[in-house]
Amino acid sequence: MGWPIPELRCAICGRQVDPFGPYFRASGAFLPASDALAKLCNASFHWACYERWPHRPRFAGRYVEAWIKANRSNPFWWAVYVDERVYVSVNPERPIEEASVRLRAVGSDIRVPLPRWTEWLAAPERVCPGLQAIERAGLAEVLPTLRARFPDDHAVVNAVDPGEKPGRGATKRTASGGRSR
Ligand SMILES: [Zn+2]
Repeated sequence: MGWPIPELRCAICGRQVDPFGPYFRASGAFLPASDALAKLCNASFHWACYERWPHRPRFAGRYVEAWIKANRSNPFWWAVYVDERVYVSVNPERPIEEASVRLRAVGSDIRVPLPRWTEWLAAPERVCPGLQAIERAGLAEVLPTLRARFPDDHAVVNAVDPGEKPGRGATKRTASGGRSR
């Protein structure tokens, strides 16, 4: 019945990773082959191992940079905020209607349904119950900034710059929260 599930091993401790449990993986060839960490692209990590890993800030930072670059040519995801700690992009169209928050020191894709953005700003764990310790810590640092700049989901959608993707400017959503068509 079905396909055998390939055994996952943590790239740091070498022990088994539960394929159904939470674990971290940075997918894609986002580092050049000459980089000492390139072999860890697409590798799996226990969250606890990843958190303690001294190379994590650089590894995660390069991963987030690759996402920033890739999204520039993605017709669905728009950059709305970037600084030295976090990258926020949004897909305001159905059926997605989500913001993606990536901490540069972590790299994971924290998805926030736009209708729950304000609730998420107040209490991220209520909207994203599986947040890891390093995600919670990183969010605690950037939430004051995000609350000030994007107090509601309309502010997120309105931050879309139609000039970001030439030829798609006409499709910009206005202050509808992205939920009407
Ligand atoms: Zn491990």
